[in-house]
Amino acid sequence: MASEATPFSPWVTGLWITILLVSVAFSQEHLPTRDELLEMRRSEISARRASLEHHRLMKATKTSAAQQNNYDVSHYRIEIDIDMTEKSISGTVTMTARARTDTFATVELDLDSSMTVDSVGGDAIGYTRSGNLLQVELAQPIQKDTLFTIQVAYHGQPVRGGLGTFGFDSHGDPSTPIIWTLSQPYGARAWWPCKDTPSDKADSVDMIVTVPADLTAASNGTLLSTIDNGDGTRTFHWHEGYPITTYLVSLAITNYATYSEWFWYAPDDSMEVCYYIYPEDSARARSKLTETLDMLAYFHDVFGPYPFLSEKYGIAQFPRGGGMEHQTITSQGRFGVMLTVHELAHQWWGDKITNANWHEIWLNEGFASYAEALYFEQTRGQEYFHTYMGWMDRDYPYPIYVDDITSVARIFHITVYDKAGWFLHMLRHIVGDSTFFDILLAYSNDHRFAYGNATTAGFQSVCESVWRQDLDWFFQPWIYEVGRPEYQVKWSAGDTTGTPVLNLFIEQTQVPERALFPMPIDITVETALGDTVVTVFNNSASQIFRIPLAAAPVGIALDREGWILKKVVSVSPIPTEFTLDQNFPNPFNTVSNIRYSVPRPSHVRLVIYDLLGREVATLVDKPLEPAWHTTSWHGRDQDGMPVASGIYFYRIEMRNLNDGGLNFSHTRKMLILK
Ligand SMILES: [Zn+2]
Repeated sequence: MASEATPFSPWVTGLWITILLVSVAFSQEHLPTRDELLEMRRSEISARRASLEHHRLMKATKTSAAQQNNYDVSHYRIEIDIDMTEKSISGTVTMTARARTDTFATVELDLDSSMTVDSVGGDAIGYTRSGNLLQVELAQPIQKDTLFTIQVAYHGQPVRGGLGTFGFDSHGDPSTPIIWTLSQPYGARAWWPCKDTPSDKADSVDMIVTVPADLTAASNGTLLSTIDNGDGTRTFHWHEGYPITTYLVSLAITNYATYSEWFWYAPDDSMEVCYYIYPEDSARARSKLTETLDMLAYFHDVFGPYPFLSEKYGIAQFPRGGGMEHQTITSQGRFGVMLTVHELAHQWWGDKITNANWHEIWLNEGFASYAEALYFEQTRGQEYFHTYMGWMDRDYPYPIYVDDITSVARIFHITVYDKAGWFLHMLRHIVGDSTFFDILLAYSNDHRFAYGNATTAGFQSVCESVWRQDLDWFFQPWIYEVGRPEYQVKWSAGDTTGTPVLNLFIEQTQVPERALFPMPIDITVETALGDTVVTVFNNSASQIFRIPLAAAPVGIALDREGWILKKVVSVSPIPTEFTLDQNFPNPFNTVSNIRYSVPRPSHVRLVIYDLLGREVATLVDKPLEPAWHTTSWHGRDQDGMPVASGIYFYRIEMRNLNDGGLNFSHTRKMLILK
């Protein structure tokens, strides 16, 4: 920019100084680009789609999960030995749960058919398998609210071919194994037996994993112990003490180089932030991961305290492009600020509060995506914030609500990230900044959802109770319908008993079968006294507003700051008066044009008469929208026959669309010469 020839003027100088000040303030901070955002989304989505085929198979062979509703999990103890050579695992999972029905006898678990069950124990006496279901029989039926424990010993090679959710890969030189997991949405069952649904969180999980002694295992929660078994293996015992759902249970194992920072959330209280990075990438990652504490501090402030303060936040490198928000230990393939901030935000939105089902994944992804923008607003400023939102402004082919959850590609379509991010952005502008941030805090702390699950209806109820107004008109179309408003706007300057007014005509022109999007719309009005912003509530497909102003409007802009995910088809001035102009050319021989102005929607009738007052031709007889219109006459009668030379009259009548009352009529004369 500095090398370009720039005309010197005070305005340009002022702008230049502003740019310099901004760039001084943020010169230390990377400004991610649109391409980086798109690449990050692609990688986040493809990290999950990699297991698409496998997920589809698992889903297809899952015959019924209805029985799973009959119990409630309280604890999983997962003990796993990993055989690097065989690329296999063997383990024992002990599940403690509570019956939710009387005479409860069959415990239905999810476990991929590639895993072999060796035995069942605890309160179990036997089992049957059907596809990816494992049905365990209790020794005797139990009554509602009774706790029971079952133990499943199993082994196998987690599904391979690059499609697994439990990966054996390698990195570095010399090549070192890296074992990783990514179980969202249906993949936990691929490597451990569980009730694999997001809505039943265990109150806690113990992960006891045995690996070659030269490797380090990172997992959820707190590391209770590391034991050297004296046989070339080590056993890591991790304990997640906060409620956790199955898809967030994670393992990441390799020869990690680790380092820590401390997040001081109070003068005397801090939490460890741990990084598990490949040794060969350690310096590079460290140079990029410089903002984690800033992000934590900001989210801790606006989303409520970091949800897992008594444990840790961690980032563990894994060999996928994107990231996965494993509770307290995010897996990341890269360390850019966008990905890092997105995954950290998931600790609140996704981990502390988890979508109750995969239809409503937007409650995780939309929040994490908007959290990126919020963090950039805080650290890079307003202008960049709106630019960033602009990068998420595109056409989305689906509703935010996922109707087909058998498709992993559909669950993780970019719609649930960026359109849902825009949903929150719009919500913020509707309710105002302070209410919006109150809503986020109230939602984060709501005992119905915190450390549990939420639905769209639940989030809506929080919004409505904090704002004290109904929001169904906003949630319904934006969450459940496809598309967005496409605005065609016309305006004129008017006058009501001496007060200047803006006549505003707003149409939503998206294809008719698509929803109407009621929205408050900011209209910036230019006047001789300066710009003023008025907000109109547009809630019908075609709507007229008359807005009193201090001075006459000379120009308008619709939603200039960018608070609505919209398309603006056109914004154009319209006539202020009904008129009928003299035809041109006149006299004429073959064709003449008749121009007239319609300042508000009217039924227009334009008729040609001869000297005797007989109707010769009807040129227009229909409702017309506000505009300057031109109609041509080719000197032919109703039957298409040329009329004789001479004098003719043309008369226009414009009537109210509602009551047919006459707004305007006028007659003019024309001459045909042949
Ligand atoms: Zn995400």
